[in-house]
Amino acid sequence: MLKPIPALKDNYIWVYGRENCPVIVVDITEIDRLLPFLRENKFGVEAVLLTHKHDDHVGGVAAFKRYFPDVPVYGPQECADKGATHIINEGEIVTPHYRIRVIPTGGHTPQHVSYVTDGHLFCGDTLFSAGCGRVFTGNYAQMYDSVQRLKNLPDDTLVCPAHEYTLSNLAFAESVLGDKSAVKNQQVFVARLRAQNRPSLPTTLALEKQINPFLIAENLAQFEAWRKAKDQF
Ligand SMILES: [Zn+2]
Repeated sequence: MLKPIPALKDNYIWVYGRENCPVIVVDITEIDRLLPFLRENKFGVEAVLLTHKHDDHVGGVAAFKRYFPDVPVYGPQECADKGATHIINEGEIVTPHYRIRVIPTGGHTPQHVSYVTDGHLFCGDTLFSAGCGRVFTGNYAQMYDSVQRLKNLPDDTLVCPAHEYTLSNLAFAESVLGDKSAVKNQQVFVARLRAQNRPSLPTTLALEKQINPFLIAENLAQFEAWRKAKDQF
């Protein structure tokens, strides 16, 4: 079971679970739609994973903990004062039903982390469909390295980013990659989904390697130039 729950304007809270197991919740923007979803499906929660410290990823953690006080909340050091009870910057989390790899993916924020479990990548604001996160730390080399680390995951990895930015990212991708048929096809496909108010996510790493300029960039200089161009796009 994999479910993106829309929150705020364009955030997704991801809920993932193996069959008949308590679920994992990634980033808690707010609990307005999360709590009813968990209740209706009678899901227990095994762990909360936080990718980074920004409010639209941790703003609902305190409220969540009032309903689920005993659930461990994992996150990088920068989330220590945002409700994280277990600090993890890399390595592996082992819970009763899940093994979760923690990949350091700083750049958007210095300590941002991504999580991989059962072939699902929860990458917060590091990688988006057809795009990548804004570099707030000013450290493009760190972001580039982070994206390379994610690029090394298996092609069939299901990529679960924290924002619905796909259509605007595809417009930018078209502007730098040119008349690429994979980008064009995806624009048509995603426009149809969004017109029906359906998420464009998850995506796969294999597809992203075709449509995402930040995975296609040949070196740091090109990556940085494209990321700066996207800021102005
Ligand atoms: Zn952020």
